[in-house]
Amino acid sequence: MTEPAAAYEELKAAGLKLDLTRGKPSSEQLDLSNALLGLPGVGEYRSADGTDTRNYGGLLGLPELREIFAPSLQVPVGQLVAWNNSSLELMHDVLVHALLSPVPGAPARWADAGRVAFIAPVPGYDRHYGVCERLGIDLVTVGMTADGPDMDEVERLVADDPSIKGIWCVPKYSNPDGVVYSDEVVRRLASMPTAAPDFRIMWDNAYAVHHLTSDELEIADLLTLAADAGNPDRPFVFGSTSKITLAGAGVAFFGGSEANVDWWLKLTSKKSIGPDKVNHLRQAMFLTDAAGLRAHMAAHRELIAPKFAAVERLLAEAFADTEGVSWTTPKGGYFVSLTVPDGLASEIVRLAKEAGVVLTPAGATHPYGKDPQDAIIRLAPTLPPLDEVEKAMAGVVTCVQLALSRR
Ligand code: PMP
Repeated sequence: MTEPAAAYEELKAAGLKLDLTRGKPSSEQLDLSNALLGLPGVGEYRSADGTDTRNYGGLLGLPELREIFAPSLQVPVGQLVAWNNSSLELMHDVLVHALLSPVPGAPARWADAGRVAFIAPVPGYDRHYGVCERLGIDLVTVGMTADGPDMDEVERLVADDPSIKGIWCVPKYSNPDGVVYSDEVVRRLASMPTAAPDFRIMWDNAYAVHHLTSDELEIADLLTLAADAGNPDRPFVFGSTSKITLAGAGVAFFGGSEANVDWWLKLTSKKSIGPDKVNHLRQAMFLTDAAGLRAHMAAHRELIAPKFAAVERLLAEAFADTEGVSWTTPKGGYFVSLTVPDGLASEIVRLAKEAGVVLTPAGATHPYGKDPQDAIIRLAPTLPPLDEVEKAMAGVVTCVQLALSRR
């Protein structure tokens, strides 16, 4: 038996049961926000302006919470909505609204527009693709560069084809490759001519404050750049506290131009009398202000940076000199993207699963679950304890080595 094959047999015999699939916070990270479970506290229900948060109403959400998040999401407080717990739900609903009611500047609602397509920079986030697949919105892929989507390609596509109505962007510490969009990419997105007058940028700033190093990166202000370029309605901005406080009981945000926010409020008033403002109040009491948010994220960083360091160390020890194997070293976010020689990703994921290490299915980083190169594996190290991340990554290394040896 070859050395890699023997190592793999040994790995299988260890009977591991480890999971690096989804970008969830660990229970230690959730513990950082345990104080929320006691907030706002008995008798505490008035917001700063005296609103009784227990009651209906207030579609925009509590101002004090919106004030905390306006700087990091780069949206003026008056144009930032705080909603319920999921930004994915907001993204889904915004696209449903756009299909059923014309977005500002649209000649027709998208349901009557014939084909509707979105650009999907790849690799990207599988749930973005899932929303489009569910709603019948076609996905057109473009490659990612170290600075963001390949803008030559994006500009070429949107200039000619009015059926291309939007693009998905995770502009900071992107899922899965940790890319931070350069100022030039943001400027080009804001100002590029589009054949569709109702083109939208789905600006999913899910990792706006999720730094893994002391180099807390900032990105250019899309909303201002778009307005300056004469395209004020182009951005739809999203964010949430899912990976800041409690993933299942946080607050999601939606922002954009005044016209976009009015459009959203009018349509949303048909489905809700208002968001969970008691949750807004307790989140605002807990985080206190932008500085409190920053300090809280530093505590997250302390818990998860060692896990990313372990992934980096184990990959570097094994593959520093291996042609065709590379990986990202993100400065924030929740993922590491491992690239292996073409055709090997699904085999490695299969080998790992057989050995008890569950990885995100190969192809999940691409629309329709198909990575044409079969080369990218998304690693999510935040959830398991550090020693399990190390064991799982040692297992991944063994599987990559076996797959390489069989080529
Ligand atoms: N956007 C991105 C890029 C994500 O990675 C995630 C979570 N994995 C989400 C959105 C989901 O956000 P929420 O919990 O607010 O629905």
